[in-house]
Amino acid sequence: MPTLHRSGLERDVVARVPKALLVGGQWQPAGSGRTMLVYDPATGQPVAEVADGDARDAEAALSAAYDVQGPWAATPPRRRADILRDAYAGMVENAEELALLMTVEMGKPLAESHAEVIYAAEFLRWFSEEAVRIDGGYRVAGTGLSRVLVSRHAVGPCLAITPCNFPAAMVARKVGPALAAGCTVVLKPAEQTPLSALAMAETLRRCGLPAGVLNVVTTSEASPTTGPLFSDSRLRKVSFTGSTAVGKRLMASAAEQVLRISLELGGNAPFIVFGDADLDAAVAGALVAKMRNGGEACTAANRIYAHASIADEFTDRLVSALSTVNMGRGTEPGVTLGPMIDGRQRTKVALLVEDGLTRGALRRCGGYVPPGPGYFYPPTVLTGVPADAGLATTEIFGPVAPVMTFETDEEVILAANRVDTGLAAYVYTRDLSRAFLLAETLEVGMIGLNRGTVSDPSAPFGGVKQSGTGREGGDVGIGEYLETRYVSIDKTW
Ligand code: NAP
Repeated sequence: MPTLHRSGLERDVVARVPKALLVGGQWQPAGSGRTMLVYDPATGQPVAEVADGDARDAEAALSAAYDVQGPWAATPPRRRADILRDAYAGMVENAEELALLMTVEMGKPLAESHAEVIYAAEFLRWFSEEAVRIDGGYRVAGTGLSRVLVSRHAVGPCLAITPCNFPAAMVARKVGPALAAGCTVVLKPAEQTPLSALAMAETLRRCGLPAGVLNVVTTSEASPTTGPLFSDSRLRKVSFTGSTAVGKRLMASAAEQVLRISLELGGNAPFIVFGDADLDAAVAGALVAKMRNGGEACTAANRIYAHASIADEFTDRLVSALSTVNMGRGTEPGVTLGPMIDGRQRTKVALLVEDGLTRGALRRCGGYVPPGPGYFYPPTVLTGVPADAGLATTEIFGPVAPVMTFETDEEVILAANRVDTGLAAYVYTRDLSRAFLLAETLEVGMIGLNRGTVSDPSAPFGGVKQSGTGREGGDVGIGEYLETRYVSIDKTW
Protein backbone atom coordinates (compact mmCIF):
# COMPACT_ATOMS: atom_id res chain seq x y z
CA MET A 1 0.00 0.00 0.00
CA PRO A 2 1.10 3.57 -0.55
CA THR A 3 3.62 5.36 1.61
CA LEU A 4 3.52 9.08 2.30
CA HIS A 5 7.25 9.32 1.81
CA ARG A 6 8.44 11.49 -1.08
CA SER A 7 12.01 11.07 -2.15
CA GLY A 8 14.41 13.94 -2.73
CA LEU A 9 14.50 12.92 -6.40
CA GLU A 10 10.75 13.47 -6.75
CA ARG A 11 11.05 16.86 -5.11
CA ASP A 12 13.90 17.82 -7.48
CA VAL A 13 12.01 16.66 -10.56
CA VAL A 14 8.91 18.62 -9.57
CA ALA A 15 11.03 21.65 -8.63
CA ARG A 16 12.57 21.80 -12.12
CA VAL A 17 9.20 22.24 -13.88
CA PRO A 18 8.11 25.83 -14.59
CA LYS A 19 4.92 26.37 -12.54
CA ALA A 20 3.82 29.39 -14.54
CA LEU A 21 1.84 30.26 -17.65
CA LEU A 22 3.75 30.28 -20.93
CA VAL A 23 2.61 33.33 -22.87
CA GLY A 24 4.54 34.85 -25.76
CA GLY A 25 7.63 32.83 -24.88
CA GLN A 26 7.74 34.04 -21.26
CA TRP A 27 6.97 32.02 -18.17
CA GLN A 28 4.82 34.30 -16.07
CA PRO A 29 2.43 34.15 -13.11
CA ALA A 30 -1.32 34.34 -13.63
CA GLY A 31 -2.46 37.93 -14.09
CA SER A 32 -4.55 37.56 -10.94
CA GLY A 33 -1.56 36.17 -9.02
CA ARG A 34 -3.64 33.10 -8.17
CA THR A 35 -2.18 29.60 -7.94
CA MET A 36 -3.65 26.12 -7.73
CA LEU A 37 -2.42 22.92 -6.16
CA VAL A 38 -1.51 19.70 -7.93
CA TYR A 39 -2.05 16.53 -5.90
CA ASP A 40 -0.47 13.08 -5.84
CA PRO A 41 -3.46 10.72 -6.18
CA ALA A 42 -1.57 7.98 -4.33
CA THR A 43 -1.46 10.07 -1.16
CA GLY A 44 -4.00 12.85 -1.66
CA GLN A 45 -1.18 15.24 -0.71
CA PRO A 46 -0.24 18.36 -2.71
CA VAL A 47 2.97 18.08 -4.71
CA ALA A 48 3.12 21.39 -6.56
CA GLU A 49 1.57 24.81 -6.87
CA VAL A 50 1.10 26.17 -10.39
CA ALA A 51 -0.31 29.38 -11.86
CA ASP A 52 -4.10 29.45 -11.99
CA GLY A 53 -4.92 31.38 -15.17
CA ASP A 54 -8.18 33.06 -16.07
CA ALA A 55 -9.90 34.45 -19.15
CA ARG A 56 -7.54 37.43 -19.36
CA ASP A 57 -4.54 35.12 -19.41
CA ALA A 58 -6.17 32.98 -22.08
CA GLU A 59 -6.86 36.07 -24.15
CA ALA A 60 -3.21 37.16 -23.80
CA ALA A 61 -2.14 33.67 -24.87
CA LEU A 62 -4.36 33.82 -27.96
CA SER A 63 -2.99 37.29 -28.80
CA ALA A 64 0.54 35.90 -28.62
CA ALA A 65 -0.42 32.94 -30.79
CA TYR A 66 -2.19 35.17 -33.30
CA ASP A 67 0.74 37.59 -33.57
CA VAL A 68 3.18 34.91 -34.67
CA GLN A 69 0.77 32.78 -36.72
CA GLY A 70 1.94 34.31 -40.02
CA PRO A 71 5.68 33.98 -39.39
CA TRP A 72 5.30 30.45 -38.01
CA ALA A 73 3.28 29.28 -41.02
CA ALA A 74 5.97 30.84 -43.24
CA THR A 75 8.82 29.14 -41.36
CA PRO A 76 10.43 26.53 -43.63
CA PRO A 77 8.85 23.13 -43.00
CA ARG A 78 12.31 21.67 -42.46
CA ARG A 79 12.90 24.13 -39.61
CA ARG A 80 9.54 23.25 -38.02
CA ALA A 81 10.45 19.59 -38.41
CA ASP A 82 13.88 20.06 -36.82
CA ILE A 83 12.39 21.68 -33.71
CA LEU A 84 9.92 18.82 -33.29
CA ARG A 85 12.65 16.28 -33.89
CA ASP A 86 14.91 17.91 -31.30
CA ALA A 87 12.03 17.96 -28.81
CA TYR A 88 11.49 14.25 -29.49
CA ALA A 89 15.15 13.60 -28.72
CA GLY A 90 14.96 15.81 -25.62
CA MET A 91 11.99 13.90 -24.27
CA VAL A 92 13.63 10.53 -24.89
CA GLU A 93 16.83 11.68 -23.23
CA ASN A 94 14.88 12.95 -20.25
CA ALA A 95 12.34 10.10 -20.22
CA GLU A 96 13.07 8.86 -16.72
CA GLU A 97 12.59 12.27 -15.17
CA LEU A 98 9.42 12.95 -17.19
CA ALA A 99 8.08 9.54 -16.17
CA LEU A 100 8.61 10.22 -12.51
CA LEU A 101 6.89 13.58 -12.88
CA MET A 102 3.90 11.91 -14.54
CA THR A 103 3.62 9.23 -11.87
CA VAL A 104 3.69 11.86 -9.14
CA GLU A 105 0.82 13.87 -10.65
CA MET A 106 -1.25 11.09 -12.24
CA GLY A 107 -0.44 7.95 -10.27
CA LYS A 108 0.27 5.36 -12.95
CA PRO A 109 3.21 2.98 -12.32
CA LEU A 110 6.62 4.26 -13.41
CA ALA A 111 6.97 1.72 -16.22
CA GLU A 112 3.66 2.90 -17.71
CA SER A 113 4.65 6.54 -17.34
CA HIS A 114 7.92 5.80 -19.09
CA ALA A 115 6.06 4.07 -21.91
CA GLU A 116 3.75 7.07 -22.24
CA VAL A 117 6.67 9.51 -22.40
CA ILE A 118 8.17 7.51 -25.28
CA TYR A 119 4.75 7.24 -26.95
CA ALA A 120 4.30 11.01 -26.62
CA ALA A 121 7.78 11.70 -27.97
CA GLU A 122 7.02 9.45 -30.93
CA PHE A 123 4.17 11.76 -31.94
CA LEU A 124 6.67 14.62 -32.12
CA ARG A 125 8.99 12.49 -34.25
CA TRP A 126 6.15 11.27 -36.47
CA PHE A 127 4.89 14.79 -37.10
CA SER A 128 8.42 16.14 -37.63
CA GLU A 129 8.46 13.71 -40.55
CA GLU A 130 5.02 14.86 -41.75
CA ALA A 131 5.93 18.58 -41.63
CA VAL A 132 8.02 18.25 -44.80
CA ARG A 133 5.45 16.13 -46.66
CA ILE A 134 2.46 18.48 -46.80
CA ASP A 135 1.23 17.92 -50.31
CA GLY A 136 -1.01 19.51 -52.90
CA GLY A 137 -2.32 18.66 -56.35
CA TYR A 138 -2.55 19.66 -59.95
CA ARG A 139 -4.91 18.60 -62.71
CA VAL A 140 -6.58 19.86 -65.81
CA ALA A 141 -10.27 20.53 -65.16
CA GLY A 142 -12.76 18.13 -66.69
CA THR A 143 -13.98 20.87 -69.05
CA GLY A 144 -10.45 21.37 -70.32
CA LEU A 145 -10.91 25.10 -69.78
CA SER A 146 -8.82 25.54 -66.64
CA ARG A 147 -6.14 24.07 -64.46
CA VAL A 148 -6.84 23.07 -60.85
CA LEU A 149 -4.04 23.83 -58.41
CA VAL A 150 -4.60 22.54 -54.86
CA SER A 151 -2.55 23.65 -51.87
CA ARG A 152 -2.82 23.13 -48.11
CA HIS A 153 -2.32 25.80 -45.50
CA ALA A 154 -2.14 26.07 -41.73
CA VAL A 155 -5.63 26.47 -40.23
CA GLY A 156 -4.43 29.21 -37.87
CA PRO A 157 -4.34 29.63 -34.09
CA CYS A 158 -5.65 26.54 -32.29
CA LEU A 159 -7.00 25.91 -28.81
CA ALA A 160 -5.93 22.47 -27.54
CA ILE A 161 -7.63 21.07 -24.43
CA THR A 162 -6.27 17.83 -22.99
CA PRO A 163 -7.45 15.31 -20.35
CA CYS A 164 -5.87 14.05 -17.15
CA ASN A 165 -5.34 10.40 -18.02
CA PHE A 166 -2.48 10.67 -20.54
CA PRO A 167 -0.84 13.94 -19.48
CA ALA A 168 1.95 13.84 -22.10
CA ALA A 169 0.63 11.79 -25.02
CA MET A 170 -2.57 13.79 -25.46
CA VAL A 171 -0.53 17.01 -25.55
CA ALA A 172 1.92 15.62 -28.12
CA ARG A 173 -0.90 14.23 -30.28
CA LYS A 174 -2.26 17.78 -30.71
CA VAL A 175 0.78 20.03 -30.41
CA GLY A 176 2.88 17.81 -32.73
CA PRO A 177 0.62 18.01 -35.79
CA ALA A 178 -0.40 21.62 -35.11
CA LEU A 179 3.21 22.84 -35.05
CA ALA A 180 4.13 20.64 -38.01
CA ALA A 181 1.30 22.16 -40.04
CA GLY A 182 2.36 25.71 -39.16
CA CYS A 183 -0.36 26.44 -36.60
CA THR A 184 0.20 28.26 -33.35
CA VAL A 185 -1.37 26.89 -30.17
CA VAL A 186 -2.95 27.82 -26.87
CA LEU A 187 -2.78 24.68 -24.73
CA LYS A 188 -5.04 24.13 -21.71
CA PRO A 189 -3.93 20.94 -19.92
CA ALA A 190 -6.08 19.15 -17.34
CA GLU A 191 -6.15 20.79 -13.93
CA GLN A 192 -5.10 17.55 -12.23
CA THR A 193 -2.05 16.85 -14.43
CA PRO A 194 -0.49 20.09 -15.72
CA LEU A 195 3.13 19.30 -14.82
CA SER A 196 3.87 16.99 -17.75
CA ALA A 197 2.46 19.56 -20.18
CA LEU A 198 4.54 22.35 -18.64
CA ALA A 199 7.69 20.22 -18.83
CA MET A 200 7.02 19.42 -22.50
CA ALA A 201 6.43 23.08 -23.33
CA GLU A 202 9.77 23.92 -21.73
CA THR A 203 11.45 21.17 -23.80
CA LEU A 204 10.01 22.67 -27.01
CA ARG A 205 11.03 26.17 -25.93
CA ARG A 206 14.59 25.02 -25.29
CA CYS A 207 14.64 23.35 -28.69
CA GLY A 208 14.14 26.72 -30.35
CA LEU A 209 10.37 26.99 -30.72
CA PRO A 210 9.83 30.71 -31.33
CA ALA A 211 8.06 32.78 -28.67
CA GLY A 212 4.28 32.70 -28.91
CA VAL A 213 4.03 29.61 -31.11
CA LEU A 214 3.03 27.45 -28.12
CA ASN A 215 1.34 29.06 -25.14
CA VAL A 216 0.19 27.19 -22.05
CA VAL A 217 -2.58 28.30 -19.71
CA THR A 218 -3.11 26.18 -16.63
CA THR A 219 -6.34 26.85 -14.79
CA SER A 220 -8.75 25.51 -12.20
CA GLU A 221 -11.67 27.05 -14.11
CA ALA A 222 -11.69 25.46 -17.54
CA SER A 223 -14.94 26.83 -18.88
CA PRO A 224 -14.71 30.50 -17.77
CA THR A 225 -11.08 30.60 -18.90
CA THR A 226 -11.37 29.05 -22.35
CA GLY A 227 -15.02 29.88 -23.09
CA PRO A 228 -14.45 33.47 -24.34
CA LEU A 229 -11.88 32.23 -26.86
CA PHE A 230 -14.66 30.44 -28.75
CA SER A 231 -16.12 33.80 -29.76
CA ASP A 232 -12.77 35.45 -30.50
CA SER A 233 -12.39 35.70 -34.26
CA ARG A 234 -8.63 35.14 -34.03
CA LEU A 235 -9.19 31.52 -32.98
CA ARG A 236 -9.57 29.16 -35.94
CA LYS A 237 -9.66 25.69 -34.44
CA VAL A 238 -10.40 23.69 -31.31
CA SER A 239 -8.94 20.27 -30.63
CA PHE A 240 -10.37 18.58 -27.55
CA THR A 241 -9.71 15.25 -25.88
CA GLY A 242 -11.88 14.38 -22.93
CA SER A 243 -15.33 13.22 -21.95
CA THR A 244 -18.22 13.06 -24.40
CA ALA A 245 -20.33 15.34 -22.18
CA VAL A 246 -17.78 18.18 -22.31
CA GLY A 247 -17.03 17.52 -25.99
CA LYS A 248 -20.68 18.04 -26.90
CA ARG A 249 -20.70 21.39 -25.11
CA LEU A 250 -17.55 22.52 -26.87
CA MET A 251 -18.94 21.41 -30.22
CA ALA A 252 -21.96 23.62 -29.64
CA SER A 253 -19.71 26.55 -28.64
CA ALA A 254 -17.57 26.03 -31.75
CA ALA A 255 -20.65 26.42 -33.93
CA GLU A 256 -20.82 30.13 -33.17
CA GLN A 257 -17.77 30.86 -35.34
CA VAL A 258 -17.94 27.61 -37.34
CA LEU A 259 -14.54 26.70 -35.91
CA ARG A 260 -12.73 23.67 -37.21
CA ILE A 261 -13.05 21.10 -34.43
CA SER A 262 -11.47 17.74 -33.60
CA LEU A 263 -12.99 15.71 -30.80
CA GLU A 264 -11.45 12.63 -29.17
CA LEU A 265 -14.09 11.59 -26.64
CA GLY A 266 -15.13 8.74 -24.39
CA GLY A 267 -15.37 5.06 -25.29
CA ASN A 268 -17.03 1.83 -24.19
CA ALA A 269 -14.93 -0.79 -25.92
CA PRO A 270 -16.19 -4.36 -26.32
CA PHE A 271 -13.53 -7.05 -25.87
CA ILE A 272 -14.79 -10.15 -27.68
CA VAL A 273 -13.30 -13.60 -27.15
CA PHE A 274 -14.60 -16.26 -29.52
CA GLY A 275 -14.61 -20.00 -28.83
CA ASP A 276 -11.71 -20.56 -31.26
CA ALA A 277 -9.47 -17.88 -29.70
CA ASP A 278 -5.98 -18.47 -28.35
CA LEU A 279 -6.95 -18.12 -24.70
CA ASP A 280 -3.43 -17.35 -23.49
CA ALA A 281 -3.28 -14.46 -25.93
CA ALA A 282 -6.82 -13.35 -25.04
CA VAL A 283 -6.09 -13.25 -21.31
CA ALA A 284 -2.81 -11.39 -21.89
CA GLY A 285 -4.62 -8.96 -24.21
CA ALA A 286 -7.47 -8.44 -21.72
CA LEU A 287 -4.92 -7.60 -19.06
CA VAL A 288 -3.46 -4.87 -21.26
CA ALA A 289 -6.77 -3.60 -22.63
CA LYS A 290 -8.35 -3.48 -19.17
CA MET A 291 -5.50 -2.66 -16.83
CA ARG A 292 -3.36 -0.24 -18.87
CA ASN A 293 -3.55 3.09 -17.09
CA GLY A 294 -5.60 1.38 -14.38
CA GLY A 295 -8.52 1.23 -16.82
CA GLU A 296 -8.53 5.02 -17.08
CA ALA A 297 -8.10 4.93 -20.85
CA CYS A 298 -10.61 5.89 -23.53
CA THR A 299 -9.68 2.67 -25.33
CA ALA A 300 -10.03 0.50 -22.20
CA ALA A 301 -11.94 -2.76 -22.56
CA ASN A 302 -15.26 -1.86 -20.94
CA ARG A 303 -17.40 -4.91 -21.72
CA ILE A 304 -15.82 -8.33 -22.01
CA TYR A 305 -17.86 -10.77 -24.10
CA ALA A 306 -16.67 -14.37 -23.82
CA HIS A 307 -18.21 -17.15 -25.92
CA ALA A 308 -20.22 -19.53 -23.72
CA SER A 309 -17.92 -22.45 -24.64
CA ILE A 310 -14.83 -20.82 -23.10
CA ALA A 311 -16.34 -18.23 -20.73
CA ASP A 312 -15.61 -20.13 -17.50
CA GLU A 313 -12.04 -20.99 -18.45
CA PHE A 314 -11.34 -17.50 -19.75
CA THR A 315 -12.76 -15.90 -16.59
CA ASP A 316 -10.81 -18.21 -14.29
CA ARG A 317 -7.60 -17.40 -16.12
CA LEU A 318 -8.35 -13.67 -16.10
CA VAL A 319 -9.02 -13.70 -12.36
CA SER A 320 -5.82 -15.66 -11.79
CA ALA A 321 -3.79 -13.23 -13.93
CA LEU A 322 -5.27 -10.26 -12.06
CA SER A 323 -4.26 -11.79 -8.74
CA THR A 324 -0.64 -11.01 -9.70
CA VAL A 325 -1.38 -7.28 -10.04
CA ASN A 326 0.46 -5.33 -7.37
CA MET A 327 -1.47 -2.21 -6.31
CA GLY A 328 0.37 0.69 -4.72
CA ARG A 329 2.05 4.02 -5.23
CA GLY A 330 3.36 4.04 -8.80
CA THR A 331 6.84 5.11 -7.72
CA GLU A 332 7.37 1.96 -5.65
CA PRO A 333 9.26 -0.97 -7.26
CA GLY A 334 7.07 -3.80 -8.51
CA VAL A 335 3.82 -1.81 -8.47
CA THR A 336 1.66 -2.55 -11.52
CA LEU A 337 -1.56 -0.71 -10.58
CA GLY A 338 -1.57 2.84 -9.26
CA PRO A 339 -4.44 4.85 -7.78
CA MET A 340 -7.33 6.31 -9.70
CA ILE A 341 -7.08 9.98 -10.56
CA ASP A 342 -9.31 11.25 -7.74
CA GLY A 343 -11.97 10.39 -5.19
CA ARG A 344 -14.83 11.36 -7.51
CA GLN A 345 -13.74 8.88 -10.17
CA ARG A 346 -13.22 6.15 -7.58
CA THR A 347 -16.68 6.72 -6.11
CA LYS A 348 -18.20 6.52 -9.59
CA VAL A 349 -16.51 3.14 -10.18
CA ALA A 350 -17.48 1.83 -6.74
CA LEU A 351 -21.13 2.79 -7.35
CA LEU A 352 -21.15 1.11 -10.76
CA VAL A 353 -19.85 -2.10 -9.14
CA GLU A 354 -22.43 -1.91 -6.34
CA ASP A 355 -25.18 -1.38 -8.89
CA GLY A 356 -23.99 -4.42 -10.87
CA LEU A 357 -23.97 -6.58 -7.74
CA THR A 358 -27.44 -5.38 -6.76
CA ARG A 359 -28.65 -6.41 -10.20
CA GLY A 360 -27.39 -9.95 -9.74
CA ALA A 361 -23.78 -9.89 -10.94
CA LEU A 362 -21.27 -12.15 -9.18
CA ARG A 363 -18.01 -10.82 -7.78
CA ARG A 364 -15.01 -12.95 -8.81
CA CYS A 365 -12.37 -10.61 -7.36
CA GLY A 366 -11.93 -7.05 -6.07
CA GLY A 367 -14.99 -4.84 -5.82
CA TYR A 368 -14.23 -2.89 -2.64
CA VAL A 369 -12.71 0.44 -1.61
CA PRO A 370 -9.53 -0.27 0.37
CA PRO A 371 -8.79 1.70 3.53
CA GLY A 372 -5.95 4.19 3.72
CA PRO A 373 -4.83 7.29 1.84
CA GLY A 374 -4.96 7.62 -1.94
CA TYR A 375 -7.67 6.76 -4.44
CA PHE A 376 -6.99 3.05 -4.88
CA TYR A 377 -9.42 0.52 -6.30
CA PRO A 378 -8.40 -3.12 -6.84
CA PRO A 379 -8.65 -5.16 -10.04
CA THR A 380 -12.23 -6.37 -10.16
CA VAL A 381 -14.00 -9.04 -12.20
CA LEU A 382 -17.77 -9.49 -12.20
CA THR A 383 -19.71 -12.12 -14.12
CA GLY A 384 -23.39 -12.25 -15.01
CA VAL A 385 -23.64 -8.50 -15.48
CA PRO A 386 -27.02 -7.63 -17.05
CA ALA A 387 -26.82 -5.87 -20.43
CA ASP A 388 -28.62 -2.80 -19.08
CA ALA A 389 -26.41 -2.37 -15.98
CA GLY A 390 -24.38 0.84 -15.80
CA LEU A 391 -21.20 -1.26 -16.01
CA ALA A 392 -22.16 -2.24 -19.56
CA THR A 393 -23.79 0.96 -20.76
CA THR A 394 -21.36 3.60 -19.48
CA GLU A 395 -17.61 4.19 -19.64
CA ILE A 396 -16.29 2.65 -16.39
CA PHE A 397 -12.86 4.30 -16.53
CA GLY A 398 -11.43 2.06 -13.83
CA PRO A 399 -9.94 -1.42 -13.25
CA VAL A 400 -13.27 -3.26 -13.38
CA ALA A 401 -13.98 -6.02 -15.91
CA PRO A 402 -17.60 -7.13 -16.39
CA VAL A 403 -17.59 -10.48 -18.20
CA MET A 404 -20.68 -11.39 -20.20
CA THR A 405 -21.33 -14.47 -22.35
CA PHE A 406 -22.70 -14.91 -25.87
CA GLU A 407 -23.60 -17.77 -28.21
CA THR A 408 -23.55 -16.46 -31.80
CA ASP A 409 -21.56 -14.01 -33.91
CA GLU A 410 -24.71 -12.04 -34.75
CA GLU A 411 -25.68 -11.76 -31.08
CA VAL A 412 -22.29 -10.38 -30.01
CA ILE A 413 -22.07 -7.92 -32.91
CA LEU A 414 -25.51 -6.55 -31.98
CA ALA A 415 -24.52 -6.29 -28.32
CA ALA A 416 -21.18 -4.65 -29.12
CA ASN A 417 -22.85 -2.00 -31.28
CA ARG A 418 -25.67 -1.29 -28.80
CA VAL A 419 -23.98 1.80 -27.29
CA ASP A 420 -23.80 5.46 -28.33
CA THR A 421 -20.01 5.52 -28.45
CA GLY A 422 -17.67 3.81 -30.91
CA LEU A 423 -13.99 4.29 -30.19
CA ALA A 424 -12.21 0.92 -29.98
CA ALA A 425 -13.03 -2.79 -29.99
CA TYR A 426 -10.96 -5.92 -29.44
CA VAL A 427 -11.55 -9.24 -31.15
CA TYR A 428 -9.88 -12.58 -30.40
CA THR A 429 -10.42 -15.29 -32.98
CA ARG A 430 -8.37 -17.56 -35.25
CA ASP A 431 -11.07 -17.56 -37.94
CA LEU A 432 -10.14 -15.19 -40.76
CA SER A 433 -13.63 -14.79 -42.20
CA ARG A 434 -15.05 -14.10 -38.75
CA ALA A 435 -12.28 -11.54 -38.15
CA PHE A 436 -13.24 -9.73 -41.35
CA LEU A 437 -16.94 -9.90 -40.50
CA LEU A 438 -16.22 -8.17 -37.18
CA ALA A 439 -13.82 -5.66 -38.77
CA GLU A 440 -16.56 -4.71 -41.23
CA THR A 441 -19.53 -4.57 -38.87
CA LEU A 442 -18.30 -3.21 -35.55
CA GLU A 443 -19.23 0.47 -35.28
CA VAL A 444 -15.89 1.76 -34.00
CA GLY A 445 -12.90 3.72 -35.27
CA MET A 446 -10.24 1.20 -34.19
CA ILE A 447 -10.07 -2.58 -33.77
CA GLY A 448 -7.42 -4.63 -32.00
CA LEU A 449 -7.42 -8.02 -33.73
CA ASN A 450 -5.76 -10.53 -31.40
CA ARG A 451 -4.12 -7.48 -29.79
CA GLY A 452 -4.98 -5.68 -26.56
CA THR A 453 -3.81 -2.27 -27.71
CA VAL A 454 -4.49 0.00 -30.68
CA SER A 455 -2.53 3.16 -29.80
CA ASP A 456 0.16 3.91 -32.37
CA PRO A 457 1.50 7.27 -33.63
CA SER A 458 1.61 5.93 -37.19
CA ALA A 459 -2.08 4.96 -37.17
CA PRO A 460 -5.22 7.13 -37.39
CA PHE A 461 -6.61 7.29 -33.83
CA GLY A 462 -10.22 8.27 -33.31
CA GLY A 463 -13.80 7.17 -33.01
CA VAL A 464 -17.25 7.20 -34.54
CA LYS A 465 -20.68 7.97 -33.06
CA GLN A 466 -20.33 9.93 -29.80
CA SER A 467 -16.65 9.02 -29.46
CA GLY A 468 -15.76 12.02 -31.55
CA THR A 469 -14.86 13.37 -34.92
CA GLY A 470 -11.47 13.59 -36.63
CA ARG A 471 -8.34 11.48 -36.33
CA GLU A 472 -5.03 12.02 -34.56
CA GLY A 473 -1.81 10.40 -35.76
CA GLY A 474 -1.12 8.49 -38.93
CA ASP A 475 -1.12 10.02 -42.40
CA VAL A 476 -4.32 11.92 -41.72
CA GLY A 477 -3.39 13.48 -38.36
CA ILE A 478 -1.76 16.58 -39.79
CA GLY A 479 -4.78 17.15 -42.05
CA GLU A 480 -6.80 18.21 -39.00
CA TYR A 481 -4.62 21.33 -38.88
CA LEU A 482 -4.62 22.15 -42.61
CA GLU A 483 -7.11 23.96 -44.82
CA THR A 484 -7.38 23.06 -48.48
CA ARG A 485 -7.31 25.89 -51.01
CA TYR A 486 -7.60 25.64 -54.74
CA VAL A 487 -6.72 28.06 -57.48
CA SER A 488 -8.57 27.85 -60.76
CA ILE A 489 -6.14 28.91 -63.50
CA ASP A 490 -7.57 29.88 -66.83
CA LYS A 491 -6.15 27.65 -69.56
CA THR A 492 -5.64 30.61 -71.90
CA TRP A 493 -3.37 32.30 -69.36
P1 NAP B 1 -12.92 15.90 -18.96
O1 NAP B 1 -13.45 16.08 -17.60
O2 NAP B 1 -13.87 15.99 -20.10
O3 NAP B 1 -11.77 17.01 -19.12
C1 NAP B 1 -10.96 17.07 -20.26
C2 NAP B 1 -10.38 18.46 -20.37
O4 NAP B 1 -11.44 19.38 -20.65
C3 NAP B 1 -9.69 18.97 -19.11
O5 NAP B 1 -8.61 19.79 -19.47
C4 NAP B 1 -10.81 19.80 -18.46
O6 NAP B 1 -10.33 20.79 -17.59
C5 NAP B 1 -11.43 20.42 -19.68
N1 NAP B 1 -12.80 20.89 -19.50
C6 NAP B 1 -13.76 20.38 -18.70
N2 NAP B 1 -14.91 21.09 -18.85
C7 NAP B 1 -14.64 22.07 -19.76
C8 NAP B 1 -15.40 23.13 -20.33
N3 NAP B 1 -16.68 23.33 -20.01
N4 NAP B 1 -14.81 23.95 -21.22
C9 NAP B 1 -13.51 23.77 -21.57
N5 NAP B 1 -12.74 22.78 -21.07
C10 NAP B 1 -13.30 21.93 -20.18
O7 NAP B 1 -12.14 14.50 -19.12
P2 NAP B 1 -11.05 13.84 -18.17
O8 NAP B 1 -11.71 13.31 -16.95
O9 NAP B 1 -9.86 14.72 -18.01
O10 NAP B 1 -10.62 12.62 -19.10
C11 NAP B 1 -11.36 11.46 -19.18
C12 NAP B 1 -12.22 11.41 -20.43
O11 NAP B 1 -11.43 11.67 -21.57
C13 NAP B 1 -12.81 10.02 -20.64
O12 NAP B 1 -14.13 10.13 -21.07
C14 NAP B 1 -11.92 9.44 -21.73
O13 NAP B 1 -12.52 8.42 -22.48
C15 NAP B 1 -11.64 10.65 -22.55
N6 NAP B 1 -10.44 10.46 -23.36
C16 NAP B 1 -10.60 10.28 -24.68
C17 NAP B 1 -9.49 10.03 -25.47
C18 NAP B 1 -9.61 9.80 -26.95
O14 NAP B 1 -8.59 9.85 -27.63
N7 NAP B 1 -10.80 9.54 -27.49
C19 NAP B 1 -8.21 9.99 -24.88
C20 NAP B 1 -8.11 10.21 -23.51
C21 NAP B 1 -9.24 10.45 -22.76
P3 NAP B 1 -10.25 20.50 -16.00
O15 NAP B 1 -9.20 19.48 -15.84
O16 NAP B 1 -9.89 21.80 -15.42
O17 NAP B 1 -11.61 20.02 -15.59
